[in-house]
Amino acid sequence: MIDLRSDTVTRPTPGMRRAMAEAEVGDDVFGEDPTVRRLEEETAALLGKEAALYVPSGHMSNQLAVYASTESGDEVWAHRDAHVVANEQGALAVLARVQPRVYDSPDAYPDDALLEAWIRGADDIHRARPRLVCLENTFTGRVVPRERQLRVARFTREHGMRLHLDGARLWNAAVAQGLAPEAVAEGADTVSVCFSKGLGAPVGSALAGDAETVAAARRARKLLGGGMRQAGIIAAGALYALRHHVDRLAEDHARAERLAAGAAEVPGLRAEARTNMVVLTAPRGRAHRLAGLLADEGVGSVVLGADRLRLVVHLDITDADIDDAVAGIAKAAAAL
Ligand SMILES: *Cc1c(COP(=O)(O)O)cnc(C)c1O
Repeated sequence: MIDLRSDTVTRPTPGMRRAMAEAEVGDDVFGEDPTVRRLEEETAALLGKEAALYVPSGHMSNQLAVYASTESGDEVWAHRDAHVVANEQGALAVLARVQPRVYDSPDAYPDDALLEAWIRGADDIHRARPRLVCLENTFTGRVVPRERQLRVARFTREHGMRLHLDGARLWNAAVAQGLAPEAVAEGADTVSVCFSKGLGAPVGSALAGDAETVAAARRARKLLGGGMRQAGIIAAGALYALRHHVDRLAEDHARAERLAAGAAEVPGLRAEARTNMVVLTAPRGRAHRLAGLLADEGVGSVVLGADRLRLVVHLDITDADIDDAVAGIAKAAAAL
């Protein structure tokens, strides 16, 4: 199967497995795992933040950021489809016990008018206290321009709010724009990044930010049972990915372009490449049926909605896989 469901399906490369097998380890709950420490330091440096914390998942990273940045009952603003509200069960309500307030917007970021409207009367006794804005970049593969984030950051600073960036695929946003990761993280008080998506590591994400917030997140990670012992074994895979698999994301983006160009030739389909993803639009609400037909052709996809599905290019996808996937898409669409 050409597995284009997600960039999380990659297997560790031989070099990565070697790094993991040879990793220097210690008890990370005692702060004594040198590989975890190195990963946290290099991640923080790349993102231009004071400190970072290695965690098992992007979900935990996002939720620790919210937990460490808010008090119970505070209001958290996010796009209605943001992972932190739409795909992490009800964790905002269960863990940090905050109230999400969600907006819609074409490029996933809130505009000035919305921010100004929502902050007006914030000190009214009836209102929850607006405390945190959560942004996401890339957003379903789409890159959000840097200037948009800096405007939101100016707003949060001015109003005593904080800004969290869900950068599960921040590396893709950086490579696509030719920017340093630090520039993509600029203005965010906290930023979550994944090693187990485009970078191809088997396990883990990191939360980066100022030392005080990261220390609070470290405490909360333990509260949730996320303290790990000789975690250097898996951190070594993440560190290897960070050192060797960031620049190569450009290859995934080029393959996604080629996949989209091939799919767009197929009658009845529309295709849009967004960094390492291709969003396919099927006619008349037939995304589920198309996904089923694609699976029959050996092409894995994920349905996004009635009309749309996504194909995600990653480390284990070759040029030949792209050719085969385009052929499979053509056959599936003919049977639609
Ligand atoms: C995958 C993803 C996460 C969560 O990462 P997990 O490691 O799967 O928990 C968070 N945010 C975004 C935008 C993601 O794509």
